[in-house]
Amino acid sequence: MVFKDFKGACHIHTDYSDGNIPIHEVVTSAQDTDLDFIILSDHNTLLPKHEGWEGWHGKLLVIIGMEASPRREGHFLALNTKPLAGNRDVDLSRYKYMSSRECLEEAVDYGSTAYIVHPMGLRKKTFMINLNGWQDWERNGFAGIEIWSYFLDWFEGLKISNFRHFCKYPHLQIKGPNPKLLSLWDQLGKHRKVAGISGIDAHLRKIPFARRPLFTYKELFQTLRTHVFIEGELSKSDKAIQSVCNAHQEGRCYISFDLLADATGFSFVADTEEGTYLMGKEIFNQRGKIHFKTKTPYPATIKLLKDGEICAERNGSTLEYLNNEKGVFRIEVYRENKPWIFSNPIYIR
Ligand SMILES: [Zn+2]
Ligand SMILES: [Zn+2]
Repeated sequence: MVFKDFKGACHIHTDYSDGNIPIHEVVTSAQDTDLDFIILSDHNTLLPKHEGWEGWHGKLLVIIGMEASPRREGHFLALNTKPLAGNRDVDLSRYKYMSSRECLEEAVDYGSTAYIVHPMGLRKKTFMINLNGWQDWERNGFAGIEIWSYFLDWFEGLKISNFRHFCKYPHLQIKGPNPKLLSLWDQLGKHRKVAGISGIDAHLRKIPFARRPLFTYKELFQTLRTHVFIEGELSKSDKAIQSVCNAHQEGRCYISFDLLADATGFSFVADTEEGTYLMGKEIFNQRGKIHFKTKTPYPATIKLLKDGEICAERNGSTLEYLNNEKGVFRIEVYRENKPWIFSNPIYIR
């Protein structure tokens, strides 16, 4: 099987909700970059799907998801929304007034896969930002979590005193995924597979004190991406949308801050006597040793973590590690001391 790397931007709003930019301009901005796919996620609506925006736009694959956004509770991204979108009796605007739990149960009942977005939330009264975090961690039903959000990462350290500096050098403020969230992800992974995805939460957002919107979509599309591994050519597949959604759900993907360097070429695999497995794989009852192999397209600091603790670290373009223990193994890569790549785990059960 030959898997290829395709990169996309996820968690994008348009004027179908509060993105303040027409959908055709969003698509054009993405076509002006080197993205293979984008995942749109307007609040509580699948209207862009009904109106025919999903599918190929030249070489760009547009996937229509939805951000279920209860007013007072945490939000999630719904993918695989075909059954939900196919049923026009489901009034998605009422999600605004429902609880997260009710929305999640309904979306999953209709066959959607759910990813908790901005799981830790963010409150910045001065800038009128109020994003709810997720509370209901005991409940399963979601397939994954947004472990790194460009918008939240940039916004987290923002103050009136550093405002101009943050706007002038936005990517210098990027710190990487929230360590508390990573630790929660490692904990959840001990019990079941939980895919990690990225989001940019793109809006043409104008906030108090700013003369113009903070970022253009074209700028945002060059920042944080999720790279998925898919067998064969995406453009030749009649199941391209399903393939991208499946790769997310299975954790056959990694996240990278491509503004530092395009991470295409990165890999993290487990070699065993039975075969070679990609990230996202759960390996049960393995007898022999497992040979973890990591490769990056440029030299960097590569860290292998087991259950959240570093078990191997190396400067270079490769890292190899022989393992005979159970655990949740994943990779973090830093380039020039900046967070660059975060893999999904390989689970040894
Ligand atoms: Zn939200
Ligand atoms: Zn959003």
